[in-house]
Amino acid sequence: MLFILAFLIHSVIKFFQHLREIKPKQEGLNPLYPFYTAVTLAAFLGVGYLEFRHQFVQITTTPIIRKISGVDTALARCDRAMANLFAPTRKGYVQYEYADGQYTSSDIAHFHPAACADIFNWYVWQGKTNTTDYQIHTLDMISHEAVHIGGVRSELIAKCASTEWTEDVLLFLGAKPDEAKRVAEINRKNANDYQGRGPGSQTSAYEGNCDSLPSFRKD
Ligand SMILES: [Zn+2]
Repeated sequence: MLFILAFLIHSVIKFFQHLREIKPKQEGLNPLYPFYTAVTLAAFLGVGYLEFRHQFVQITTTPIIRKISGVDTALARCDRAMANLFAPTRKGYVQYEYADGQYTSSDIAHFHPAACADIFNWYVWQGKTNTTDYQIHTLDMISHEAVHIGGVRSELIAKCASTEWTEDVLLFLGAKPDEAKRVAEINRKNANDYQGRGPGSQTSAYEGNCDSLPSFRKD
């Protein structure tokens, strides 16, 4: 990213240097200069847009992650697209460390760049309405990873616990109450459907129904 920015700034400086050199000599402008300018400007806007999208999703979702996890230092991090070209297409993850016989979760929720783009599109371009099934899955990632940071390691339990916050997450992001409720209901159903066929489901201590678990909300 820094390299691209440096290159663009260099191009713009070079362009203006050329302009200064040419004018006194009364030479005509190279007819390609407007084209170079347009390309440089487009590249600036493109990179600026991607960076804005990246920061926007991190800044918008971090307070939610902190609230749900109860960890004040928790952070939402959109992984960088160029660094994740060959990354598996999972949506999000939280790293764990194992020491002294116990697991400690990191306080960073990593989001796949495509998932961050999806949240941004839903939020900005789609106006937080008509949430698709795919977007429901993506938005669930926010509370899901927060639950992990909060100390829940079991994937099955995290699936259920996550849905307890779906409505609040959408309301916080500014969705209309009807839409938040609709998405929360679908997400809860998805979590129930997932039980019994997810990885590690054989270790499930309950009947595969999220309603049989105690609430994970402390508020
Ligand atoms: Zn998980």
